Amino acid sequence: MHIAIIGTGYVGLVTGACFAEFGVFVTCVDKDEDKIEKLKKGIIPFYEPGLDEIVKRNLKENRLKFTTRIDEAVNESLVIFIAVGTPPRGDGSANLEYVEEVAKEIAKNMNSYKVIVTKSTVPVGTGFKIKEIIKKNLEKPVNFDIVSNPEFLREGSAVEDFMRPNRVVIGAESDQAVAIMKDLYRPLYLIETPFVITNIATAELIKYATNSFLATKISFINEISALCELVGADVNTVAKAMGLDGRIGPKFLHAGIGFGGSCLPKDTMALLKIAEEKGIRLRIVKAAVEVNQWQRERLISKIIEAFNSNIEGKVIGILGLSFKPNTDDIREAPALSIIQSLLNKKAMIKVYDPQAMENTKKVFPNIIYCSDAYSVAEGADALVVVTEWNQFRNLDLEKVKKIMRGSLFFDFRNIYDPLKVRQLGFEYFSVGRP
Ligand code: NAD
Repeated sequence: MHIAIIGTGYVGLVTGACFAEFGVFVTCVDKDEDKIEKLKKGIIPFYEPGLDEIVKRNLKENRLKFTTRIDEAVNESLVIFIAVGTPPRGDGSANLEYVEEVAKEIAKNMNSYKVIVTKSTVPVGTGFKIKEIIKKNLEKPVNFDIVSNPEFLREGSAVEDFMRPNRVVIGAESDQAVAIMKDLYRPLYLIETPFVITNIATAELIKYATNSFLATKISFINEISALCELVGADVNTVAKAMGLDGRIGPKFLHAGIGFGGSCLPKDTMALLKIAEEKGIRLRIVKAAVEVNQWQRERLISKIIEAFNSNIEGKVIGILGLSFKPNTDDIREAPALSIIQSLLNKKAMIKVYDPQAMENTKKVFPNIIYCSDAYSVAEGADALVVVTEWNQFRNLDLEKVKKIMRGSLFFDFRNIYDPLKVRQLGFEYFSVGRP
């Protein structure tokens, strides 16, 4: 089977490479010429563990190709995935401009029956909008089906998530489209991945409901962390014991600086907007968003208060810039708001991240970029762990203490043992722990 993936970002490239790995012939399309030129040479434009290898292998075996020509890709493919970005607009709603642009392009180039699949995260009702756009822009009468197939992969473990997902969701209107999608995903069917076959609106909503629920779990434990600090309880133990309850589960219950990234902040806001347009307030999702903002501000205040509100000229070292480990993605990363707030108060900022420095340089060209965690610590008045990269979990804290100018240590991911860090002479602050 030949398929096309329009939009070769985190989701599109992983999807394309993994389908090629399943034996499908895949054409990945992007309008970014530079990106496509790099990919043709096997250069991956972002960091994602394991992706490099499968892109190179499938390029070599001619199952994967890259182009800027959407017309050719549409012509030769039976299934066309839309995987372009759906960034938030100023009011929080999803910007569908790229999706709609692609739908028009697909329509203009359709030469035979096609299944057009939305992989981008899109508001409920978008599938039908796409259908209308395609009908309106068809240049010759051809049949087509619309499918919603939301993606649940996580950056940092995207390949593994795509190859072994918890479930595959397919929202469709026709049996023919469902059969084609099942055929495409056959290798996952064979390993007994659960398939949820439903209508388009349900599939679209499943994605937003899932991400909003995950965001709610994080905000819930973060709110509890603030209470823990006031009553002398340990949030890690609270979360662990809660998570041992099979009805709750241990995942997404780690107190910290709150959620960031390109999905949870944007999808929670978009869901609120979708609901608002339908005349209903989603109170829990709204609270999850508010608590996330509050937790960020609360922890940033801890840094500022530790300097008696006078942080001018102080050297603050930031460990971790990406929104989570194993990615170079800094979209909505907590580190960005921490750095901005501290710069606003005229602090000096030193940073290190194993993968996300290049992206961060585009946002903050004038802060100090270091080669490792120890160079960040050197001469710093305070050190802040923002992203829990493995590289930061086992630092030689004795050495860190010696080379720092001050002794403030903010561990916003709770990766160190408070007692041990304090014994070394640090003034240690973590989240929700005595
Ligand atoms: P991204 O920004 O990394 O990639 C989008 C790509 O689409 C870019 O390379 C861009 O150049 C390309 N593009 C835009 N308009 C185009 C056009 N007209 N023709 C061809 N290419 C075009 O985005 P992403 O992170 O891969 O996210 C894509 C979608 O998947 C979003 O809706 C997102 O919410 C959803 N999603 C993302 C993740 C994630 O972890 N990143 C997970 C699940 C779902």
